Amino acid sequence: MRATGRLHIGNYFGALANWLEFQKKYDCFFMVADYHAMTTGDLSQKTLAENTQQILLDWLSVGIDPAEATVFVQSAVPEHAELFVILSMMTSLGWLERNPTYKEQRQELGDKYTGNLGFLGYPVLQTADVCLYKATKVPVGEDQKPHLEMGRELARRFNSTFGVNVFPEFEAILTPTPKMLGLDRRKMSKSYGNVIELSENPDSIRKKIQKMVTDVRRPRKEDPGHPEDCNVFYWHQLLTPGERVKEIERDCKGAILSCWDNKNALADRVIAWLEPIQRKRRELEANLDYVNDVARKGIAKAREVAAKTMDEVRQVVGLWGKIDSPTAAH
Ligand code: ADP
Repeated sequence: MRATGRLHIGNYFGALANWLEFQKKYDCFFMVADYHAMTTGDLSQKTLAENTQQILLDWLSVGIDPAEATVFVQSAVPEHAELFVILSMMTSLGWLERNPTYKEQRQELGDKYTGNLGFLGYPVLQTADVCLYKATKVPVGEDQKPHLEMGRELARRFNSTFGVNVFPEFEAILTPTPKMLGLDRRKMSKSYGNVIELSENPDSIRKKIQKMVTDVRRPRKEDPGHPEDCNVFYWHQLLTPGERVKEIERDCKGAILSCWDNKNALADRVIAWLEPIQRKRRELEANLDYVNDVARKGIAKAREVAAKTMDEVRQVVGLWGKIDSPTAAH
């Protein structure tokens, strides 16, 4: 996840929900992508290091468990940059230019933030992130899928060029909510200003939800509602227990519940769901030494794995690398 600030509930439903399950089953590597955050960020703000810490706090407060998973920071493992350079030599420009997420973001964010080489090469760096750990499953939201498709091609091209299977096949794994809609029914994203953050205070959550647009075909409470066309109902389906959702659907169609009632019930629900997460966050904020220690340990483990993969990569490519490494004799 990119170090662009505090996480929102779209990040939770689109990715973290899977991470929490995966950490129980697999050997997981969870990375704060601070290099990736530089691709579209305003670097003069100097918020990168702070944002990295905010992501770590969010992860630990939702239940990412450093005893189960390796939690680390991309830039602390220089092999990411090294493998990126090598893979970029094998990447067709057409692959990058055709990437739909690239085209969309170019349009949304404009030349100032996206007219740089690093942004164009985003999927190549992401492929390096995945391949360094020989990952096979990449739990992400839908917007990342095209990048990973391209990354699969690239990893295949590397293997076939050198005739060795250094990198295993990998695939994107999506949650049932791979594209959560935001307060305005567009994809929830910080750059659209339509998010609720995991650490957002209850007053702000309620105010934002109260302003949500509901069913435009129901101007008065006495009119029957169309829950299928209502963003508040869509959020209820994600956050409210199934039995209650059925009652809301019935009472909205029957004009018993007003949109205002539904919004307040949703706000109650979101606030209650986030309460234990925010309590944990406050504890962690008072113990930043612990948070930094988690990252330090994760970085040490990630470096070990990445160094091993890079030795193998240098060997097959024929790069000298470190002069005292066995690669030099190659
Ligand atoms: P953002 O898009 O907010 O800048 P990132 O690009 O760092 O955040 O995304 C972190 C993870 O969260 C990625 O796996 C991404 O696919 C996922 N994600 C982001 N926004 C959403 C959303 N609205 N719905 C589902 N998943 C999302």
